[in-house]
Amino acid sequence: MAKRDYYEILIIAREASGEDIKKAYRKLAMQFHPDRNHGDAEAADKFKEATEAYEILSDAEKRQRYDRYGHAGLENMGGGGAQTVDLGDLFGDLLGSFFGGAGGQQGGGGRRRSGPAPGRDVQIVLDLELAEVAIGVKKTVTIQREDQCEPCSGTGAKPGTRPTPCKRCGGQGVVIQRQGFFQVQQPCRSCSGTGQIITDPCGTCRGAGRVLGRQAVEVDIPPGVDTGDRIRFQGMGDAGAPGAPRGDLEFAVRVRDHKFFQRDGQNLICQWPVTFSQAALGATIEITTLTAEKVKYDLPRGIQTHEVVRLSGHGLPNRRGGGRKGDLIIQVVVDTPQSLTAEQEQLFRRLAEIEIQIQQTVPPTKKSIFSKLKDWLTADDEKK
Ligand SMILES: [Zn+2]
Ligand SMILES: [Zn+2]
Repeated sequence: MAKRDYYEILIIAREASGEDIKKAYRKLAMQFHPDRNHGDAEAADKFKEATEAYEILSDAEKRQRYDRYGHAGLENMGGGGAQTVDLGDLFGDLLGSFFGGAGGQQGGGGRRRSGPAPGRDVQIVLDLELAEVAIGVKKTVTIQREDQCEPCSGTGAKPGTRPTPCKRCGGQGVVIQRQGFFQVQQPCRSCSGTGQIITDPCGTCRGAGRVLGRQAVEVDIPPGVDTGDRIRFQGMGDAGAPGAPRGDLEFAVRVRDHKFFQRDGQNLICQWPVTFSQAALGATIEITTLTAEKVKYDLPRGIQTHEVVRLSGHGLPNRRGGGRKGDLIIQVVVDTPQSLTAEQEQLFRRLAEIEIQIQQTVPPTKKSIFSKLKDWLTADDEKK
């Protein structure tokens, strides 16, 4: 079978930088990694192919030879130059950080470890009210997670029996595979990376060592979080193999919309109704904040509808703690009364009479927007 071009395999240009190569390989390796494609031979081949391409193109000397002479240029470079691509180093925490878990036995931070496998992370969507975000909240959440099986103490072997070391990997849990002239470390498929084979499985967990259960956990959610934030609680996820730590519990936050307050980062925005007389004369109004605090505000005389005022420090706290709170931004809305008492009606009619007198006598600069509008409309009429 003819070998494919390394650049074509990684889907990169011939002048790609080292960083481009690494990125391209990472993407493919994530997609085709054996841990995430159990038993898929095609994915395994693609993974091998991409790993080989990466191994060559990430090595300056080999890349130069390949660029000049193609695959033939690399043929006599084998032998002594065997290298191991350390996937743990390359991916850092990425393998473990996928929402929904990385699958396989690889849990926790995603770093390759020898020894018993840690538990997987449990990930849950957490719905919060905006008022809870304002002050932080203690939440009791029922989660489904794997706990150590009690009858077999997590070994998976029937009580009274013991697992035997895996013959394929010699109990190491990993195998080194030679691919051409370099080596790749992979979890052992015979024992799924545990290093042990259970010949007589436990009846309760059927050899898994863990059983699924529901548990109510109490967590402190810090104030200021927003939709899309992740909150991680270490060691509250699935149980690991005996002797290994639990995975983490991770919440993906979703904040519900509030009926009255809108969020803009750390600021809160709302509309506040005021009466005609309050707007015209000015008044001290009492505003109820998201946390039900009453705050007095001196409305200036003559404020217009839709004008915006700011109550500094009455927004949301910073998620990272410390720092100042955001502001409460209030859009004043003059509320037109829809039903009038006889007395109000009388007063409004009197006011209307006065308004007509004023409009006829006040100099243009002092005129309200209504009379300016009226002037403009009349002037326009005259032009026609
Ligand atoms: Zn094995
Ligand atoms: Zn068991």
